[in-house]
Amino acid sequence: MGICLSTAGVCISTADDVVNDFLDRQSLFYEESKRAREHLQKKNAAANNDDYNAIHVNSILQSGLTPIYPTLPDAARKHGCRNVYDGDTLTLEDDARVRLMGIDTPELKERQPFALEAKEYTKKYCYGKDVWLTFGEIGGSENEKNKDHYGRLLAFIWVPLGDDSGSRGGTNGGKSPPRQSTSNPSQWLCINEGLVASGLAHAYSPSNSKKVHNHDKLLGLQRLARVHKRGQWETFKDYNVIVTPNGSAFHKCKNGKSTTSDCKHLSRSKNLSILSASDVYDKGMHPCRNCFG
Ligand SMILES: [Zn+2]
Repeated sequence: MGICLSTAGVCISTADDVVNDFLDRQSLFYEESKRAREHLQKKNAAANNDDYNAIHVNSILQSGLTPIYPTLPDAARKHGCRNVYDGDTLTLEDDARVRLMGIDTPELKERQPFALEAKEYTKKYCYGKDVWLTFGEIGGSENEKNKDHYGRLLAFIWVPLGDDSGSRGGTNGGKSPPRQSTSNPSQWLCINEGLVASGLAHAYSPSNSKKVHNHDKLLGLQRLARVHKRGQWETFKDYNVIVTPNGSAFHKCKNGKSTTSDCKHLSRSKNLSILSASDVYDKGMHPCRNCFG
């Protein structure tokens, strides 16, 4: 982060650097973000400016939205991770397959952009290591209620940061996450949230009635990633989409203006309206698979 020479108040590029640092250094995330907030607070106090962007950036930092937690949830249970298939699917040492809840990463099979990066992210923190699982709203357990229709466990994955307690010794493909030289292991990364914060996953709920407990936080992290063009959001340009009054998916808008659509899911829908893609992502909606493939 360079020295800000601006005399007009908070230097936006410096503020952006702060946010980028905040997002980039996943393993140093907690300390970095704390320092970044303090840095910006001091600058704002000194400048007393009312620049909208500075306030916006500041509010993001002040929001404390981070996928790093000081403690592990009580209900979390330790498992070994045997393999990582893609960003949101892995297997445990007892062969149970796990699908990360509340998110959707790009498809490897369909060679979607950032599918490989999403897989690398999850692999970096989980492959050959101990991981901790929680299920649903209050932890739950590995019973049928927490499985999807493919029989995969739906879970949040947690890993320790800042020490080697998660390592299972030499089987992580030589790709260890950067380690902090600290004796404090009390930083826990929620992989599900980390993927969204890095722009490598969308927040996802299959329907309006099946929202995960941290759905709103995931939307906040997703917005943060979009605003700062992280991962999949790097080349995002807003466009118009078609929505139904109560649907959880949005649909392609043929000419960007009209609600006329060829989508079979809209053949009987009434009261269609047009919104921007950024708005509907902020609402937690996902692209219709029929429209967007
Ligand atoms: Zn559609």
